[in-house]
Amino acid sequence: MTKKSRNLEDRTRVTTLGRDPDANFGVVNPPVYHASTILYPNFADLMDFKYPASPYGRMGTPGTFALEEALRELEGAYGCRLTPSGQNAVTTALLATLKPGDHLLMVDSVYEPVRMFCDSVLKRMQIAITYYDPTIGAGIAELISDKTAIVFCESPGSLTFEVQDVPAIAKVAHENGALVLCDNTWGTPLHFKAFDHGVDISIHALTKYVTGHADTMLGAINYTKAVAPGFEKTYRALGLCAGPDDVYLALRGLRTMAVRLKQHQATALELATWLQTRDEVARVLNPALSDDPGHALWKRDFLGANGLFGVELKSGTYEQLEAFFDTLELFGMGFSWGGFESLIVPSKLKTTRTATQSLPEGPLLRIHAGLEDPADLIADLARGFDAFNAIS
Ligand SMILES: *Cc1c(COP(=O)(O)O)cnc(C)c1O
Repeated sequence: MTKKSRNLEDRTRVTTLGRDPDANFGVVNPPVYHASTILYPNFADLMDFKYPASPYGRMGTPGTFALEEALRELEGAYGCRLTPSGQNAVTTALLATLKPGDHLLMVDSVYEPVRMFCDSVLKRMQIAITYYDPTIGAGIAELISDKTAIVFCESPGSLTFEVQDVPAIAKVAHENGALVLCDNTWGTPLHFKAFDHGVDISIHALTKYVTGHADTMLGAINYTKAVAPGFEKTYRALGLCAGPDDVYLALRGLRTMAVRLKQHQATALELATWLQTRDEVARVLNPALSDDPGHALWKRDFLGANGLFGVELKSGTYEQLEAFFDTLELFGMGFSWGGFESLIVPSKLKTTRTATQSLPEGPLLRIHAGLEDPADLIADLARGFDAFNAIS
């Protein structure tokens, strides 16, 4: 028996869930089992398909079940399944809930590779897709029809960080017989309790804050009891599984996630507040800032923020941006986020968005505030801006 600890704080539960030292010679962390074949103890059990824990490596090993249990319990889901990447978690959830002829309402600020999946694979499957403005809220009623099977949310949105009114959207969706799927990677199972806000399937790129060390690709799908039968069938049929070493790293990352998130959030706010004082900056896009348009909704529905936010510059030529980026020493230039290190990338928007009413006009950057000392990070950005301003 592992400790469920439902009545304890999340910061405690990340340290207790999905561990069973008594079953593992007292070892604190669940060991890594590499397995394809799993042997049955006798003929009768084989004939009855009665297996000790798992019938076959693809269906998981004790580490898989430990991580699934921890994620499920933290978010208050009925079930959890792991996928080899966050992108695959999203595509699997959509494949499990859509059929030809269905209509999908997809948020315009969705993670871009998901948009690519919609416009290629889902279109080929005869799914009709309508992109909607992330700030639509209850206005989603005007776009929904009796063909709408799914309303997909991602809050805050990728690159532009609009907070969605998920409860208002869920109310309309459920009244019309549609399910709500939500990419909750930014929220994490700690900071956005998706199932308390009407979500039916909550999706996570564990690659980000759960593993937290920029060394693992992994995804998870948490779901309610109502969607379990259909979802489980597709998940199994697709033959998905997660590698035991990656699962181990995710479980290990989970243990420190609560304190890491707290520090990422504090550093991001410090950087954001400093950036707001800079002449080069038009706007900082971070719902944890009190003057952000999404702040009220974030405060109502979220239990915390993290290190990822956007910065809109007033202007900037290619050469100025090049000087700025190439001067930075502590901010890595690379995609993904959620690791211990600070990152920065330029965000391209205009070519992808089709339904968002109000988009940033100036050059847009995405910053991930890592676990470095904030003063060092600010000094690095200041040097970057010096280089930026030295080019006219
Ligand atoms: C990174 C990311 C994904 C994809 O996760 P991978 O593990 O990189 O495939 C999905 N959704 C959001 C919001 C992300 O940021």
